[in-house]
Amino acid sequence: MGKRIIYLDGEYVNEDEAKISVFDHGVLYGDGVFEGIRAYNGRIFRCEDHIDRLYEAAKAIMLDIPLSKKEMTEALLETCRRNDCKDGYIRLVVTRGKGDLGLSPTKCPKPSIFCIAGSITLYPEEMYTKGMPLITATQRRNKATIVDPQIKSLNYLNNILAKIEANRAGAAEALMLNHDGIVAECTGDNIFIVKDNVIYTPPIYIGILDGITRRTIIELAKKLGYEIVEKEFTLFNVYNADECFLTGTAAEAIPVTTVDGRVIGEGVAGPITKALLAAFKEYANSNGTDIF
Ligand code: PMP
Repeated sequence: MGKRIIYLDGEYVNEDEAKISVFDHGVLYGDGVFEGIRAYNGRIFRCEDHIDRLYEAAKAIMLDIPLSKKEMTEALLETCRRNDCKDGYIRLVVTRGKGDLGLSPTKCPKPSIFCIAGSITLYPEEMYTKGMPLITATQRRNKATIVDPQIKSLNYLNNILAKIEANRAGAAEALMLNHDGIVAECTGDNIFIVKDNVIYTPPIYIGILDGITRRTIIELAKKLGYEIVEKEFTLFNVYNADECFLTGTAAEAIPVTTVDGRVIGEGVAGPITKALLAAFKEYANSNGTDIF
């Protein structure tokens, strides 16, 4: 792949010139918000949902984005066009901007905005058919009263610490519980289980990201006639589920076949998981906002 063209604060620059200040509070404090977005077949997947979530996260941290949603969408689309990105993974970031060495955002007059049209491979291809192992991290997901997981902020240390646990255990992903021991989500994915033909996923209020892939899977499951319930559950329910899968923009939808050494169901991608994965692929490749 050649050099990418990056959108940076209103300009399109070569990736070697795409630099932000060491005084940017996104760098110094993780003060900012972002989105991970997919392009499939020349279309942005659920573009409006991503832009809305970015502005909602910014509002929650009192970060005034100096672009309208329409201008932000255009910057996203134009970045894809300039990189001829028809299928890819796009990162859209708004930081608090350049300030001084203190915490206060009042010293940061102008947010930095950048957009990278790239690609991502989170897990080996064979895991999508054979399934992946999960471990439960000892690291608990942030409480919504501390840093609400609904805010997709640049501060991902909570998730990174759990990911390190997964890596050290030889697993690709870690399951995170909330402070009460209720199953929350993974470091970069939402979780679903299936028991007796009913699909369950944790509700947003227990402290998870309102995943856009999660929303899509819920819609598709309903369309296909499955019963799907947003309900709290524990690790016991995961271990004894018939099926389990994860969803996320980068991961897409991926079956889970073991959790903490317990084999889930038959230890293969189950029928409902397979049906939803296929429905997701089909939907992703035929819907979205045209790039070109
Ligand atoms: N949870 C977390 C913590 C995430 O980082 C992500 C990835 N953005 C998800 C869930 C999945 O969300 P989405 O489907 O919107 O990518």
